[in-house]
Amino acid sequence: MRTTSAIFYAPKQPISVEEVELDGPRAGEALVRVVAAGACHSDWHAVDGHTTPAFAPQVMGHEGCGIVEEVGAGVTAVRPGDPIVFAIRPMCGKCRYCTTARPNLCDGIVREPGLMVDGTSRFHKPDGARLFHGLATFSRHTVVPEWHLVKVPDDVPIERLASVGCAVVTGVGAVVNTAQVTPGSTVAVWGCGGVGLNVIQGAVIAGASRIIAVDVKESKLKFAREFGATDTVNALEGDPVEAVIDLTGGGADFAFEVIGNPTTVRQAFDATCPGGTACMVGVPPTGGEVSVPMRPLFLDRRLIGSSAGTGRPRVDFPWFIELYRQGRLKLDELQSRFRPLEEINEAFADMLSGSVARTIIKM
Ligand SMILES: [Zn+2]
Ligand SMILES: [Zn+2]
Repeated sequence: MRTTSAIFYAPKQPISVEEVELDGPRAGEALVRVVAAGACHSDWHAVDGHTTPAFAPQVMGHEGCGIVEEVGAGVTAVRPGDPIVFAIRPMCGKCRYCTTARPNLCDGIVREPGLMVDGTSRFHKPDGARLFHGLATFSRHTVVPEWHLVKVPDDVPIERLASVGCAVVTGVGAVVNTAQVTPGSTVAVWGCGGVGLNVIQGAVIAGASRIIAVDVKESKLKFAREFGATDTVNALEGDPVEAVIDLTGGGADFAFEVIGNPTTVRQAFDATCPGGTACMVGVPPTGGEVSVPMRPLFLDRRLIGSSAGTGRPRVDFPWFIELYRQGRLKLDELQSRFRPLEEINEAFADMLSGSVARTIIKM
């Protein structure tokens, strides 16, 4: 079929929106009509050179929601007509990680980056040239393996769930699943973009006593307060480590780094109290390294990483949707701007300017 997709060709180049050919689903795959997709910093990382792109040209996008239109042979997770949220990591259901409730680390699927398990691609240029793709949510239609699809209830507006599969699970999951923030503890958050705001609302859900948001943009600190931060620190106006230590009376119990920068990972570590936990959530740059002093580490501190919120999508997504129904999880407020697919470059400009919580591409 013919569809429209956003294509990445090379770093520092504008993203191109083009008509492409999409093959139908093969065994174990589903064709999904994408309804809405969030503009996430991890898509941008390949464009700005923060991470080395594994493959190009590629149909971009990994966060989104949609409606299943057709399924290939043997598919059991979804049926045509089902509303779904894309899970960013595959869940084979059989490997040592999937069977120990850590599907975010699933290693049971062997495939070339940007291709399906059979080594082929479903997306092609009109002249037949192969396009690489992952979930390819920046496309009006996509074909993905069923292990990326989580069926969701049909009584909530599907377009409101666009960010559940990445920003929400990565942020809330880092707090609840990975770091396991305890009620009454103090939390500091470096970086208040779409994921950082979800770390903040995860800390609210976990019952944190103080939630200190750190950023360099006042517009993002304003969003942070709306999502539940009790205090804000503009890192341009002084040492954020000292500010967090002052506000917490000796260091935060939990400090989250949601940028992917060695300097801010170190700051988050330095801002914890003895016995505290620093948790790296931001995507690290290719080859990035961080070092921490041994003496503070010795005092029961932990420096840990959180990948996709240590999420268990088939458990966590329904939980998030229930919290949203009850008004305890902000999803409407997260969608601070809508744009059509043709404005994908402008959507990333919104993100970089800090003027939005998340820009949502509405198909
Ligand atoms: Zn993402
Ligand atoms: Zn697995």
